[in-house]
Amino acid sequence: MAVRVPRRQLFIDGEWREPALKKRIPVINPATEETIGDIPAATAQDVEIAVEAARKALARDKAKDWSSAPGAVRAKYLRAIASKIKERKSELAKLEAMDSGKPLDETTSDIGEVASCFEYYAGLAEELDAKQKTPVSLSTEKFKTHVLKEPVGVVGLITAWNYPLLMAAWKVAPALAAGCAAVLKPSELASITCLELAEVCINVGLPPGVLNIVTGLGNEAGAILTSHPNVDKIAFTGSTITGSKIMAAGAPMIKPVALELGGKSPIVVFEDVDIDKAVEWTCFGIFLTNGQICSATSRLIVHESIAAEFMDRLVKWSKNIKISDPMEQGCRLGPVVSKGQYEKILKFISTAKSEGAKVVYGGDRPEHLKKGFFIEPTIITDVTPSMQIWRDEVFGPVLCVKTFSSEEEALELANDTHYGLGAAVMSKDLERCERFSKGLQAGIVWINSSQPSFIQAPWGGNKRSGFGRELGEWGLELYLSVKQVTEYVSDQPWGWFEAPPLEDDSEMSYY
Ligand code: NDP
Repeated sequence: MAVRVPRRQLFIDGEWREPALKKRIPVINPATEETIGDIPAATAQDVEIAVEAARKALARDKAKDWSSAPGAVRAKYLRAIASKIKERKSELAKLEAMDSGKPLDETTSDIGEVASCFEYYAGLAEELDAKQKTPVSLSTEKFKTHVLKEPVGVVGLITAWNYPLLMAAWKVAPALAAGCAAVLKPSELASITCLELAEVCINVGLPPGVLNIVTGLGNEAGAILTSHPNVDKIAFTGSTITGSKIMAAGAPMIKPVALELGGKSPIVVFEDVDIDKAVEWTCFGIFLTNGQICSATSRLIVHESIAAEFMDRLVKWSKNIKISDPMEQGCRLGPVVSKGQYEKILKFISTAKSEGAKVVYGGDRPEHLKKGFFIEPTIITDVTPSMQIWRDEVFGPVLCVKTFSSEEEALELANDTHYGLGAAVMSKDLERCERFSKGLQAGIVWINSSQPSFIQAPWGGNKRSGFGRELGEWGLELYLSVKQVTEYVSDQPWGWFEAPPLEDDSEMSYY
């Protein structure tokens, strides 16, 4: 069932290129701890060439460069990429499961979404032609103004490992649709399918330099990209700590950034829910992707009147979750991505215990799996708001639980976090859900569910979860800049030498 990991190079200027220092990083299958291949490690020289190639793609031939091509032309390439990805769906899904540890069912669905994402932005690229020039109605007839939407230029795209190709697609597809050229730096922990995207680009004849893919270390290749003066914008998905480093690296150049960062999202369960349904969403919201989701609803806040029954059923269902090699049929929980993450998560659990919290289920390696970075679904109670487990993102299959007695208290607990990515509220009272949604400090709110995302709807957070919105039209806007073009159309002289003409045009200013 396993597939061979192709040996790839960096993808720069439309071709494979060996990294300048010929360094490679081993790829470890987190389920078996075996080395299954390696990826090239880009260093400063390689990133430099990749940025140059992207710049050239925007200025190769002014009449024919990627940014001035009609949206319909860019759409053609995006659709071709989508179609190739669909053709290779099963193989890519297997590669991604072996690389990241995500259950094969999940990676199969993710790769399907990757193709849909390219198709969706192909559609928006076509529509962009008509929207590129928009007239603005003014309060004077002396001027005409229109707004141009233009590609931002060369963009650096840096992604995390939990949705390796999908997170890349959320950035690459809109960036290319907008007419930008891009340099993608995926996570060193799961880059295999992003390198296969390079192969797909070669297959469909994507013009050289439009997309460059440089795998390698974050503090080397990623850091060079973020501080590069010839990169016009950085779009980043990853931890809050790296996000803040990226802001700092771009600050001297006032480089714009879009940041999709971490979270500590709440799921609030009121007393009137159907308990089994709410338990299923609670499990899905935290154990999907082996607990490694930015928006994972990792803080359960449950009404005290149903807490005992809810916890019983939560533990019962958690025991039923199939933990296995991600390639096994029916696997629902695979290993976390790396030894480093595995140790970090176990440390979170032991700190919670030492602070007085109680592990009511899980908390360790499952007994039946002797190898691999597996951690049981873990449920922790007796948590106080000052504990690390309540405050910090674990990024693993660990749920912490608190109870509440009033709606006001539930909202206070839900918002008691530096993060502001997702939040879920469960109740049969839809008026209450709506009222509660308004009070939640989060970029995404789920009612009677947790986690689904849609290509058409905006994705992103507030507070320390970042800023900027991916997906939908918002995702395209990240890669477009707005230019005001104003023309003086009156036959009369402006009249500044005589007297300021501002009295009649009170809404107009000189500046
Ligand atoms: P990291 O922040 O460690 O890494 C993210 C990316 O940044 C990787 O490609 C990494 O490379 C790179 N990187 C690391 N250091 C630097 C640097 N100094 N300059 C530039 N790039 C750098 O995050 P993880 O990969 O551990 O991902 C998990 C985090 O991502 C979690 O906090 C999660 O919540 C967040 N996330 C947010 C999402 C959202 O939509 N809001 C979605 C998915 C994840 P390398 O891997 O080589 O270190």
